[in-house]
Amino acid sequence: MTLLSSSGALPSNLHVNYYFEVCSLVFLVAITIAYYGRKKFPVSTYRLFGVALITLVVNVSLSILFCVLLDNSNVVPIGLVEVVAELYFFMQFVESYLLFAYVLYSIGKSLRYSPIYLLTILPSAVGAIFMFTNCLHHLNFSFVLNSETGVYDMLPGPGFISMYVINWGFNTVATLVYTIAFRKSLPKQILFTLLCIMGIVATAAVIQTLNPQVILSGVSFTLSVMLAVVSVCDPDVKVDRFSKAFNNEAFIEYINVQRFEKQRKHYIIFDIESFGMFSEKFGVVASNELVSIVRKFIEGVNKKSFIFRTTSSRFVVLLRNEKEQLEMVNAIKERFDKPVRVKGNEVVLTINLFYFVNNMAFYNSDLYNNFVARTLSAINFKDSNCVELGQEFMDRVNRDRKIRDILENCLKTKTGLYMVYQPIFDMNKKCFNHCEALIRLDNDELGYVGPGEFIPIAESFGLANQIDFFVLNETCAFLQRHPEIESLEVNISCAEFFNNPSERFLKTINQYGIDPNRLCLEITETIAVKYPTKTREFMNDLGQHGIKFAMDDFGSGYSNMARFITLPFSVAKLDKSLLGEAANVKVFFDAAVNLFRSLEIPIVIEGVENEEQLAMSKNKKIDFVQGYYFTKPLREKELLEFLNSNKNN
Ligand code: C2E
Ligand code: MG
Ligand code: MG
Repeated sequence: MTLLSSSGALPSNLHVNYYFEVCSLVFLVAITIAYYGRKKFPVSTYRLFGVALITLVVNVSLSILFCVLLDNSNVVPIGLVEVVAELYFFMQFVESYLLFAYVLYSIGKSLRYSPIYLLTILPSAVGAIFMFTNCLHHLNFSFVLNSETGVYDMLPGPGFISMYVINWGFNTVATLVYTIAFRKSLPKQILFTLLCIMGIVATAAVIQTLNPQVILSGVSFTLSVMLAVVSVCDPDVKVDRFSKAFNNEAFIEYINVQRFEKQRKHYIIFDIESFGMFSEKFGVVASNELVSIVRKFIEGVNKKSFIFRTTSSRFVVLLRNEKEQLEMVNAIKERFDKPVRVKGNEVVLTINLFYFVNNMAFYNSDLYNNFVARTLSAINFKDSNCVELGQEFMDRVNRDRKIRDILENCLKTKTGLYMVYQPIFDMNKKCFNHCEALIRLDNDELGYVGPGEFIPIAESFGLANQIDFFVLNETCAFLQRHPEIESLEVNISCAEFFNNPSERFLKTINQYGIDPNRLCLEITETIAVKYPTKTREFMNDLGQHGIKFAMDDFGSGYSNMARFITLPFSVAKLDKSLLGEAANVKVFFDAAVNLFRSLEIPIVIEGVENEEQLAMSKNKKIDFVQGYYFTKPLREKELLEFLNSNKNN
């Protein structure tokens, strides 16, 4: 077989060496069979890898077929040779595109339909069509009969070299650029492998372009595939050694790509209760056998199920639809009602199970852990070992997760979150001399979300610290702008006391150069009772610098009051629930007022809405009153207007 250069003068009688390709094909077929023979990990990158393997086998087979047919073009119709050649070159576009797609999938599919993505694949798509329609224009290659040998020679046309440039050059460069640009979102191992693969492919491309007589595409792809199998696409790495179920690492990878893929939503999560005790009693070998029995049982019920062992005693099973999910739940219930035979022992196991449809309630390990913790604290397995998480529960989880995402984004972009201020009336001086700052969240998707809803969510997802600092910065800046405002009460969560926030608080306050006396931090009973020592330290640290503290929502929790009142508070804020009409509430209210009066702690009463409540506050000689009776919390501009018009009150 002879290839002619684009000028047609060179080279003459070059023999294409396709023996490398034959060896590669043998390897590729072996790898493909081995890959498909094993348990496949159910995410796109793995599926894509399988597709890539098959297209590679096709590609290399075509390259060999093309060479053989051309060598025998004296007996084979040249039209057939041309079709095979077109297919072969076309497949090369597919191959390099698959590599590019692999990178995209690894980064996250959201990029797929971006303009930059289209701009990147457009040249390749045009090139591929151009190649596929070669028989119509013969701009890429044509065939001329060699009178000496009696077989056809391939004559590369002007499009041939551009095909190589577009396909190898452009696509590889684009893949490289994406890989490097998004290196942070790629696991190290994948990054390293991709760079190596691109190195191999580019080297082969250069050699092949310079020496058309050596076809190396199959060799380079085979090397790449072997590298990928060894380093990133080995499904065995994702399998738990003992149960042979997928392991926790695999599960995390699976849920991480959920956002980008159509994944299974029908979950069953179950724990083998007292698994630790079982191991202690019967030994490690028996417990390894037990988990293997469990996995085999699940796979026996439904061959299409995916089972993960995420902790020593916890399994997660994924099914395709509700019917399969229910069948599996019933099968598990039935099976574990009976004793299990492990290493000659008959054991009765308790399985605690819950099942649900996951519509994005979690899509990474943190969200998953939060979901499981929350679910386990909501479920009482004592009533039933098998609990369905209904639509309402999942809707709640989904909404919380959505609010978490919105909050995270708002904190990052510094949009959507803002402060409002509610004036507090001084009953002795008869003026509004201080205010409470309250945070607000407005969002296009969910509209207004109240702090009563999103603050606990922020606390449970570890965002409370960021909110505290957002609020602190906003309120310090507010005090800096308005020296006429005597003092400001600021709510803080301090849910992350572990980070020792005192120092950072002081630093932030100092940055604004305001008098620390003007700042009064409100702490709720929940936090003070949960972390009494840390709260005391925090209050002492900041108290030394003149910052005051208010005890917020006193009376809303009724819990551990003794501990709460021994902390160094300067103000007590009685919760609005204490304004209730019930006799026992009135008694509690009076007791609270007397208690703080004897401790000489000034009292603020919250939530005063009408004349009667105001009169009652006056009656009881309450020091400060806050509530809708005067005004709702206001934006800064409205607050200033309000304070101006009420100056002489
Ligand atoms: P809180 O600190 O006890 O704040 C008082 C709440 O009562 C505010 O609700 C306020 O708008 C509302 N309120 C005021 N006067 C009346 C009234 O006359 N009647 C009634 N029914 N309600 C009244 P808001 O702003 O929805 O805040 C709810 C809770 O969210 C706050 O309770 C506080 O615990 C928390 N929060 C608000 N802002 C922040 C913040 O910046 N950081 C933190 N960590 N928590 C905040
Ligand atoms: Mg408050
Ligand atoms: Mg309060």
